[in-house]
Amino acid sequence: MSSPTTVTRFAPSPTGFLHLGHAFSAYQGWSAARVAGGRFLLRIEDIDEGRCRPQFEDAIFEDLAWLGLSWEQPVRRQSRHLPDYRDALGQLDALGVVYPCFCTRKAIREEVARIGHAPHGPDGVLYPGTCRALTPVQRARRTAAGQAYALRLDWARAARIAAPAGWHDDIAGEQATDPGLFGDVVLARRDTPTSYHLSVTVDDHLQGVTLVTRGQDLFASTHVHRLLQALLGYPAPRYRHHRLITDDAGQRLAKRSDAVAIRHLRAQGMTPQDVWALVGITDLP
Ligand code: GLU
Repeated sequence: MSSPTTVTRFAPSPTGFLHLGHAFSAYQGWSAARVAGGRFLLRIEDIDEGRCRPQFEDAIFEDLAWLGLSWEQPVRRQSRHLPDYRDALGQLDALGVVYPCFCTRKAIREEVARIGHAPHGPDGVLYPGTCRALTPVQRARRTAAGQAYALRLDWARAARIAAPAGWHDDIAGEQATDPGLFGDVVLARRDTPTSYHLSVTVDDHLQGVTLVTRGQDLFASTHVHRLLQALLGYPAPRYRHHRLITDDAGQRLAKRSDAVAIRHLRAQGMTPQDVWALVGITDLP
């Protein structure tokens, strides 16, 4: 039997211009597909309407093409696929692992202060679970009163229903999944009917991605993604969390670092080869 085709992707959010760190990340997916004779996809992660801009999306295509990368068409844009995320959310809800959370940020802070301690995750204090205990009647009353809510994953219940196996990271090796690392994560909000964790899990599955290449900054998120994959019945892809490109001071490049934006370097007269060399890549596209 021949081994399945390797499918990789680069999934930027159009919230700023691509910089050297993005070029490096895009290259990881592109080259992994090329080495394996596989397919390289580009996905636009534009669910955060408040922060995404069409001009940044256009710039992504232009910059990547200028760098010499090519990708399969059509490009998946998350904002065009909200029904897919809604379906997955429905599937999770049917498993009884989703609950509405009416807490404002302020209410969460106050609750954490009241408890006196709170476990921390990679993004800070974990949600203390206040709304998990609401009765169906209390929930119905609050929704009927028009109170805004987010939908959260009851991770402990979820892990009892579908304890996820670990995953393989090409760089870090075999990993055991810690399904509660981020606590009861938000899966959807009223203004954004999905979340990063949910949409990335659904998209990677629907697009048949077999190797997720992305920066080490997203390593911890994989614990949540493995839990969602187990609940939704998706197989685990392989992962390759690559090192991050840092500036001279060793700091991770921020989206706003215009000095390292691809288009800025290009305007300075650099060639694609010059740009690739800045991130140590010499076997050029
Ligand atoms: N859209 C995410 C970002 O721009 C990347 C998502 C992923 O690779 O899983 O940071």
